[in-house]
Amino acid sequence: MIFPLPPNSTIGIVGGGQLGRMSALAAARLGYRCHVLTPEPDSPAGQVCAGITLGDYEDTQALYDFATRVDVITFEFENVSAAGLDLLAALKPVRPAPSVLRISQDRITEKTFLNDVGVATAPWRPVTSQAELRAAVAELGFPAILKTTRLGYDGKGQALLRGPGEASRAFEELSPKPLILEGFVDFACEISVVVARGADGTMAAFDTVENGHREHILDITFAPARIAEVTAAAAQAIARRVAAGLELVGLLAVEMFVAADGRVLANEIAPRPHNSGHWTIDACPASQFEMHVRAVAGLPLPTAVRHSDAVMKNLVGPEEEALWPQILATPGLIPHHYGKTEARPGRKMGHVTRLFSRGGLPGAFAIAAALGPVAPKEADVKGG
Ligand code: AMP
Repeated sequence: MIFPLPPNSTIGIVGGGQLGRMSALAAARLGYRCHVLTPEPDSPAGQVCAGITLGDYEDTQALYDFATRVDVITFEFENVSAAGLDLLAALKPVRPAPSVLRISQDRITEKTFLNDVGVATAPWRPVTSQAELRAAVAELGFPAILKTTRLGYDGKGQALLRGPGEASRAFEELSPKPLILEGFVDFACEISVVVARGADGTMAAFDTVENGHREHILDITFAPARIAEVTAAAAQAIARRVAAGLELVGLLAVEMFVAADGRVLANEIAPRPHNSGHWTIDACPASQFEMHVRAVAGLPLPTAVRHSDAVMKNLVGPEEEALWPQILATPGLIPHHYGKTEARPGRKMGHVTRLFSRGGLPGAFAIAAALGPVAPKEADVKGG
């Protein structure tokens, strides 16, 4: 395949969720077709793609059929097995490279990589037995967080440990999966940076944003983060260092903590568009999804400028999806629905963006008022 991909080429997307849907919509604007691999017959991405290969991510035949129908392959779902990744990479260019996905699939390889490139994280220890857990707890102290090293998301596969009793119980629950113990970060706020990197090493990083979670699921993003400029700049530097260290071709998000003492610690890497970058669709000339497509297709990466400040509120579960008619009737709210037919608790059904003039992100009460029917509780808006 010759890059840059000419219009009418086909981008293969592994995964059928909303990240794939929004990538496909951005790709369509640049003249590309998208073909999605998903086990779901009616998926958010499948609904807007030119073609679908219906199959499991571990199904060799499905992976092969998918790869033969596309010019380049990217991901919105990262947990394809190593064998699956190798099969895809043998057939078509895979961007980001399988090596990037392998690092991000496992919290231990991820944190090892981060520390190796000089990015600070919470202190951590690998844990495979009760004895190792006791030793790790003796070093890191309580509270601490025990997590499965693989396949954890939205708070699944992790437990907060406040004392020895909880430690041994959590180990029983989470093992025999490989585990990692992390020191608890007493954070002032959670932030993230989305950065794209091209094959020539050009990078485009969106502004540092601030994230509020509810029940471990992203609830609200403030763009830009309401933090000191030096802190926001430190986060930018971390994201660039990570993207360069991975020799990324594509787009990734780095989730970070701002510790109470102002230090910025990396928590997780996601080598794909990220929920905390959805505001860029409405507040930037080129969104994270367009940057993703551009990087994957070998197109030039424009600077990631923000023409407006923004607040993005997720619509999670049946209660928030039920607000859809009021959202549509509220001036200033920009609605995004992912086309999912069933609103299960905790499921991301869509999001809403509210724009403000650049530099004009107002205080908590004004933000709540501007969000109208989807206004979060005041405590959630206050932030750091
Ligand atoms: P994760 O699955 O690693 O993204 O963690 C989900 C959420 O749990 C994070 O967004 C934090 O709110 C919280 N969390 C995870 N790790 C830590 C930590 N080491 N210290 C404090 N909070 C954490």
